[in-house]
Amino acid sequence: MTEATIFDKILHGEIPAQIVFEDDSVLAFRDVHPQAPTHVLVIPKKKLARFSELATAPVADVAAFFSSIAKVANHLGLEKNGYRVVINNGRDAQQSVEYIHAHILGGRALSWPPG
Ligand code: AMP
Repeated sequence: MTEATIFDKILHGEIPAQIVFEDDSVLAFRDVHPQAPTHVLVIPKKKLARFSELATAPVADVAAFFSSIAKVANHLGLEKNGYRVVINNGRDAQQSVEYIHAHILGGRALSWPPG
């Protein structure tokens, strides 16, 4: 059992968050330090710490996570102008919360490459 992170606490309603979407497989809430007009984090309810763990996760869980990310972006009305999905994995990517999460960023033109 890994240590409870801030996202475990949001999932279990122990600390507040601005929830924008929830279904059987994911919870989505606004990032507290938004990097774009729309910046939402999507976490699977079945906890994994990192993206790299998807390599051994049941394919149905992986599919549900990715499908739900697209659903959240659609729900937020981002599909017309576009958006970016970012998943930071580990130290060099500056993952700061050890609970897998996808960032959805949209609402402005995003530069490339990322820093
Ligand atoms: P990462 O660097 O990919 O691990 O992203 C973690 C993200 O979580 C950062 O963008 C933070 O701003 C965000 N964050 C940290 N604490 C909270 C919180 N309590 N509610 C919402 N977002 C948070």
